[in-house]
Amino acid sequence: MALYVQKFGGTSVGSIERIEAVAEKVKGFREQGHDVVVVVSAMSGETNRLIALANEIQSRPDPREMDTLVSTGEQVTIALLSMALKARGVDASSYTGAQVRILTDRVHTKARIQDIETSRMRADLDQGRVVVVAGFQGVDEDGNITTLGRGGSDTTGVALAAALKADECQIYTDVDGVYTTDPRVVEGARRLEKITFEEMLEMASLGSKVLQIRAVEFAGKYKVPLRVLSSFEDGPGTLITIEDDAAVEKPVISGIAFNRDEAKLTVQGVPDIPGVASRILGPISQANIEVDMIVQNIAADKTTDFTFTVHRNDYDKAEQVLQQVKQELGAREVVGNNKIAKVSIVGVGMRSHAGVASKMFDALAAENINIQMISTSEIKVSVVIAEKYLELAVRGLHSAFDLDDSDTVRE
Ligand code: ADP
Ligand code: ASP
Ligand code: MG
Repeated sequence: MALYVQKFGGTSVGSIERIEAVAEKVKGFREQGHDVVVVVSAMSGETNRLIALANEIQSRPDPREMDTLVSTGEQVTIALLSMALKARGVDASSYTGAQVRILTDRVHTKARIQDIETSRMRADLDQGRVVVVAGFQGVDEDGNITTLGRGGSDTTGVALAAALKADECQIYTDVDGVYTTDPRVVEGARRLEKITFEEMLEMASLGSKVLQIRAVEFAGKYKVPLRVLSSFEDGPGTLITIEDDAAVEKPVISGIAFNRDEAKLTVQGVPDIPGVASRILGPISQANIEVDMIVQNIAADKTTDFTFTVHRNDYDKAEQVLQQVKQELGAREVVGNNKIAKVSIVGVGMRSHAGVASKMFDALAAENINIQMISTSEIKVSVVIAEKYLELAVRGLHSAFDLDDSDTVRE
């Protein structure tokens, strides 16, 4: 008999009907004799609705009050799911993050878990009860409610699985596993049987929101067996694994991730002298703006153009900061573009194959797509392109790297 932590996302608990379907599923696992801890998200759309309410009052409301507000979404779902379980004769108890005591740091709206008290959950499990825990939330040392960042229920699921040493953490969602790319964008996307933690981490951080990045990090660190499955249909889903079977030939590319949330800024005509990069990026970091890709090149006239990308929400703020920097450095111009997207190919197989990047560039050239920036690491290549070509690029790359589902019939 196993202990499973099962996390159900927003769509999976989006209506009373769906909550009842989740209760049926959990009941099935109980009847097979397994112990189950369920983690739930807010009903779909609820977190956005709550944020919109706050924004009617203020554009940047106090983060502590924001956490008190948005954590209510998950509190509704734990109660409703526990009722649905009890209505089916399955003993269950609901707990908020604070009631479990999921202790976090004090960083409101993106808190990190520091410790999880397992005694109350253990006592319930010993009594044959299903434990239903609110995802996405915790509590700091002083009892303030905190939340873990958007998509944070995945992290709650993995963290509980690690703390309870569960046999598997199962992430139930509205697709039946991790695909070669977002199946809502590429029709021929293929479900992966397995993906390594390392690849999943890259996919998540490069824009595939099927799992929150921190959940993958956590699972990798504590070696939590992690599986993504559909809450609507039965199937094996996708197992996130430690790279074990070295002898097996790996595909060069496992998946394609993309992100529309970026914007790029360039300071043109910067004098080519030591310390310039730090004088440009120092004020950006002081303004709490995270920088992603960076490119710098020297022109014949001994000046450089310095380009970097930021989250699209930070675009206006970054531009203001750079206008000031431009004056101080005697640079020529600040230009920007917030209609860009980043497309990345990811795969551990890249380590042992040459020519992967050039194959990517060929595929984009064949679609007449201009590459604006490039960045690489051992297991990924990312490019920035105009946002309007994003879908064309992803589809083209998906075919070029032979990822298309061979069962998909195309014209
Ligand atoms: P939940 O509410 O269950 O947490 P999310 O919306 O956060 O669900 O994540 C599931 C969604 O992730 C899917 O509906 C899909 O559109 C998207 N997605 C993006 N990239 C991928 C991928 N590579 N594989 C599967 N799903 C992906
Ligand atoms: N409800 C939260 C969100 O929408 C957390 C989650 O669903 O994982 O981001
Ligand atoms: Mg999610």
